[in-house]
Amino acid sequence: MTAMLNVKDLRAYYGQVQALHGLNFSLNEGSLTTLLGANGAGKTTTLRAICNMVRSTGAIEFDGKPIGTRSTENVVRLGIAHVPQGRGTFTTMTVEENLQLGAITRTDKKNIVADIERMYDHFPKLKERYSQQAGTLSGGEQQMLAVARALMLRPRLMLLDEPSFGLAPLIVRDLFRILGKINREEKVTILVVEQNAQLALELADQAHVIETGRIVMSGNAKDIANNEDVRKSYLGY
Ligand code: ATP
Repeated sequence: MTAMLNVKDLRAYYGQVQALHGLNFSLNEGSLTTLLGANGAGKTTTLRAICNMVRSTGAIEFDGKPIGTRSTENVVRLGIAHVPQGRGTFTTMTVEENLQLGAITRTDKKNIVADIERMYDHFPKLKERYSQQAGTLSGGEQQMLAVARALMLRPRLMLLDEPSFGLAPLIVRDLFRILGKINREEKVTILVVEQNAQLALELADQAHVIETGRIVMSGNAKDIANNEDVRKSYLGY
């Protein structure tokens, strides 16, 4: 497998505060990778740095090309979709309008209707609620809408920030099952930031562990799940 994303010596700053301290990792094309870490370790900042939403130095390469200096909009156009924490759907617009908006930068307008139908196949709840305002959906449905909207970009890489946040365990399982299916069927490479280490390691094939702005462990998700330090620190047994 070839590396789709390569992050080298990434340092990120909020004013004088340094949040990332020389982060190194890569993502293989087609992989489903989780980035695990405690509160404040730098998970959100890593995703923000890839999208150039925070000041950073170091190298970020997508398909071997440097993207570190591109604008956020430009990064999106390259095929990188970001689902930030807190979902961010347009609450006064309907489910279907949110999906249409997700495709706004696309030039292949004729495929959009079929893609919306495909999203409804992945997320049947959204089909039931297609004409409802997004703000009236449950938390889980809003998260699903946020993911579906990001997929309407037809991204090659999707970055997800804590999709399980605030959701009931059964809903999280359902969402993660769908993410696995999307990774396999739509061939979207996924990087998911999670506090829920147990579920994330079940879902992912690769994992990176971040501590105070540095990657301290990388590998196969199963091996990481069996690592004694990871079990003690993140899995609680
Ligand atoms: P969480 O799970 O709590 O979101 P995280 O691993 O995503 O944690 P980040 O949000 O990336 O961590 O934060 C990394 C570091 O950067 C923390 O020390 C945090 O306090 C700091 N930080 C984050 N956002 C800002 C900001 N807007 N201004 C100043 N410091 C910030």
